[in-house]
Amino acid sequence: MKRSKSEGLFESAKKYFPGGVNSPVRAFKSVEGAPLFMKKGDGAKIWDEDDNEFTDFCCSWGPLILGHNHPQVYKSIVANLQNGSSFGTPTRLENILGDLILSRNKFIDKIRFCSSGTEAVMSGLRLARGYSGKNKVVKFEGCYHGHVDSLLVKAGSGLVTFGESTSAGVPESFAGETLVLPLNDLDALKQCFEEYAHDIACVIIEPIPANNGLLLQDKAFLTALREMCTEYNILLFFDEVISGFRVAFSGAAEYYDIAPDIISYGKIIGGGLPVGAYGAKAEIMKCVSPEGPVYQAGTLSGNPVAMAAGIAQLSECAKEGFYEDQEKRTKFFVNTLNAHAKQKGYLFEVFTIGSVFWLAFSDKLAIRRADEIDGDMTSFKDLFAALLEEGIYIGPSGYEVGFISTAHTMEILTDAAEKFCRAMDKAFTK
Ligand code: PMP
Repeated sequence: MKRSKSEGLFESAKKYFPGGVNSPVRAFKSVEGAPLFMKKGDGAKIWDEDDNEFTDFCCSWGPLILGHNHPQVYKSIVANLQNGSSFGTPTRLENILGDLILSRNKFIDKIRFCSSGTEAVMSGLRLARGYSGKNKVVKFEGCYHGHVDSLLVKAGSGLVTFGESTSAGVPESFAGETLVLPLNDLDALKQCFEEYAHDIACVIIEPIPANNGLLLQDKAFLTALREMCTEYNILLFFDEVISGFRVAFSGAAEYYDIAPDIISYGKIIGGGLPVGAYGAKAEIMKCVSPEGPVYQAGTLSGNPVAMAAGIAQLSECAKEGFYEDQEKRTKFFVNTLNAHAKQKGYLFEVFTIGSVFWLAFSDKLAIRRADEIDGDMTSFKDLFAALLEEGIYIGPSGYEVGFISTAHTMEILTDAAEKFCRAMDKAFTK
């Protein structure tokens, strides 16, 4: 595989950006070689600067549930861009996207658009604190909620790859407002609530933790968490930046039928452009400025071009049978890989929910932390290299999940599964 153009661009990029990238997980730190510089995407395929073609299972880390360059999304962006890219005033498009979401979501009455998942979480936390008048936040080990200062404590995502559990630059006093608990441990939760409930504003969780492997939770744990939050008068905050519009239109809340008090969204909501959002029942949302005292704002919030992309994408997601079809194709792909691994006796299993999957070098479902499992994550490096050679692109970290879009047709998935199995053979018999 030719990589010279990507290598040259990476050398230049190092002069401009720390580590040569504008987001750490792109840096290929846990795999070999320079990051691939992409230049084009169409449907399920992407092309890098050296003209290598890949079937893309990263899908921009989740936003592209319709694949690259989807005709409806493309048309909607171009049509609205012709009217101007930003006004800093309200536009009709915000109402359309707001209605599209709220009319189908029984968990929230009002929503506020912002520009990233991190911003959505950060603003939702401020709202939880402003509404409750309490200070502390409970988070779970291995859950990642963006680079919010007080939540960069035992997070997942790039931090796991780098082997760090916290970030420099976060004052102890900020981190001190965060209580970290293990996932799926009701005794620890009860103990924590008994001691600190008087000052806990909310419990934040990725209801489908997908930043430290895919740590699928027992529904019983999530149900008990909901009940205990109610009992102790603590808000439950579902961070649905990955799971929102991914496992069901109204995300994990709909999938498990568990009602959180506050929800954050990102990724899919913006159709591939930068959008985040947070929402809650009217009684909580009325605390947000200018209606209430919790300040939150954004120059480009509700940007019309980004709204246009979101409207087009979510209109497709809202169609009858969308999620069933996504799940069916994903299961076919995952089952094919698992059958091959089993037949060959490899210590490898792909775990999945909806159209998300995770490659685990173990056959045990990890429900607390990905690094608790027995498998050897260094095998990921070999598999990743073999996959690239076969024309399959996944996120360059073994702790990240993969995504399947509507553009991943049965034909594309059949072909990709065949290549994937060949890559597995290469990696496991090295
Ligand atoms: N929360 C979760 C659950 C996420 O997965 C992410 C990003 N992967 C974020 C928050 C932060 O979103 P963003 O990268 O858009 O700031």
